[in-house]
Amino acid sequence: MDDALHQTDVAIIGAGPVGLFAVFECGMLDMNCHVFDALDVAGGQCAALYPEKPIYDIPGYPRIDAALLVERLLEQGAPFAPTFHLGHAVTGLDRAGDGFIVTSAAGVRVAAPAVIIAAGGGAFGPNRPPVAGIETFEGKSVFYLVRRREDFSDKRVVIAGGGDSAVDWALSLAELARHVMVVHRRAKFRAAPQSLLRLQQLAEAGRVELVTPYQLARLESSGGQLDAVIVADLAGNERRLEADCLLPFFGLATRLGPLANWDLAFDDNRIVVDPATCASSRAGIFAIGDIATYPGKLKLILSGFAEAAAAAHAIHPLVHPGEALHFEYSTTKGVPGS
Ligand SMILES: Cc1cc2nc3c(=O)[nH]c(=O)nc-3n(C[C@H](O)[C@H](O)[C@H](O)COP(=O)(O)OP(=O)(O)OC[C@H]3O[C@@H](n4cnc5c(N)ncnc54)[C@H](O)[C@@H]3O)c2cc1C
Repeated sequence: MDDALHQTDVAIIGAGPVGLFAVFECGMLDMNCHVFDALDVAGGQCAALYPEKPIYDIPGYPRIDAALLVERLLEQGAPFAPTFHLGHAVTGLDRAGDGFIVTSAAGVRVAAPAVIIAAGGGAFGPNRPPVAGIETFEGKSVFYLVRRREDFSDKRVVIAGGGDSAVDWALSLAELARHVMVVHRRAKFRAAPQSLLRLQQLAEAGRVELVTPYQLARLESSGGQLDAVIVADLAGNERRLEADCLLPFFGLATRLGPLANWDLAFDDNRIVVDPATCASSRAGIFAIGDIATYPGKLKLILSGFAEAAAAAHAIHPLVHPGEALHFEYSTTKGVPGS
């Protein structure tokens, strides 16, 4: 566990497109950033919900795939050497002296004079299947993402779900797991045709077992270790799948979570800000992008980009008190290494 207290100029909560652009805008005003995201990739909705969809209303790009936009934003912020804490949901925001300490669920702490909340619709997290007591197995034998596929070598793995993630991981883990079972409530899976063909071939070769139409019912364990996943069909007929691990892939959901308890003014689950500065109702805390609201707010990436610029300018005096801020174009100022 990282128990150091990191010091930075601006702590950014959310690495969606708007949080990423805030890194650039803060960097241009000589402010370093630490960026947190609950997801273990940057890009927010663009990465999690529609990476391969083209976006048509990003200025200067008649068409750009969402994943490529994220790549470009990371490249644009890179000269300012941001520190990313990906896979870290922020749970705490506490006043400390003139600034704040931002704390993640895993205990990473960052102190900063200003905080930008770019949290979109809330932290992305996995949809947890309605199986009693599943949380006690999480991180030990129930996993919502695969960090290292080698961890599943020679294991009996139950994968639950019928979409791309379930199918792709079944194909991948079949190469090294002892046994892979895929539980889905329908016989038909929703995944790329090539992947489905491969899944069928592996099933016919006995390398993957398709357990359909079944749903997760409960878990059996001994000494805290998963022994079996019990599945049931619509008629209530049960099957017992002996397993070491369960990987449920039921998509992502957003949760506003602890943000709601940070004494900020909210309107319809959005943080109310002054549109001129993106300052929230608490001094030193700013909100931009989808999470921010003001009269006439448009939930568009381009609006979020402008809000990032406004917030960075408003934050400058908090980070560099007494220093005059002369407005400069990027063409005049350049970026580090340019
Ligand atoms: C299918 C689809 C198509 C779209 N098409 C367009 C389009 O064509 N043009 C357009 O302009 N917009 C489009 N949008 C909307 C656009 O994606 C959003 O406006 C944009 O993603 C908002 O960016 P953001 O950075 O504010 O928030 P998000 O992209 O939502 O990112 C917020 C990030 O903050 C993280 N986060 C939240 N709370 C915490 C916490 N407590 N700790 C750590 N991390 C946290 C989340 O995990 C998330 O990654 C589309 C959206 C969808 C779903």
